[in-house]
Amino acid sequence: MAAIIDIHTHLLPIDPLKAIWNCTLNQLSTLSEVSYASIGLHPWHLSSHSLPEQKEHLAAAALLPQIFAIGEAGIDKVCSTPISLQMDAFLFQIKLAERLGLPLILHVVKAHNEVMELKHSLSPSNDWIIHGFRGKPELAKQYLDLGFYLSYGALYNSASLLFTPINRLFFETDESPISIFQIYDDAARLLSVSSSDLIAKVSQNADKVFFNH
Ligand SMILES: [Zn+2]
Repeated sequence: MAAIIDIHTHLLPIDPLKAIWNCTLNQLSTLSEVSYASIGLHPWHLSSHSLPEQKEHLAAAALLPQIFAIGEAGIDKVCSTPISLQMDAFLFQIKLAERLGLPLILHVVKAHNEVMELKHSLSPSNDWIIHGFRGKPELAKQYLDLGFYLSYGALYNSASLLFTPINRLFFETDESPISIFQIYDDAARLLSVSSSDLIAKVSQNADKVFFNH
């Protein structure tokens, strides 16, 4: 059993056994320093001329032993990358993740309906996780009803966290220098549970989703 408690960090984890490091194709040389990582094509960093090559590199990198998830991948309607290009990269990663049986870590900005429709119509067998979820409880409900997991970082809507069942919950530091333990302490207070209980339950979710335990 692993003991993952931070499912998405861009900073190299202090304890590599407790976190999933978000790796990009440019950072593959650092992969040997971590135990667990995700790899994906972020919608911010796509270009139409390099996408075919990036897909090829991603498909190869996804087979490396440290890779336990595909992502972050998704749709961001606020960035300047054309939506058609984002959708091309996203659909490729959806298929790759499902083919390899890896969970998908999602970056979604103002594209919730599109992502929900895709999950509904494709009904993938792997798990999809919305990272950095900051939406309201109504949106949380829509995602949860479709089987998504929600991952909460340093900032979130408290009512949404209270609404999310503990077995569909993750936490993450993302790009924040804040400690993951601080995030658990704050969330545990809100949920009226002990930090250690919350950590134990969420790491069980991680065992199930990332390690098929
Ligand atoms: Zn991120």
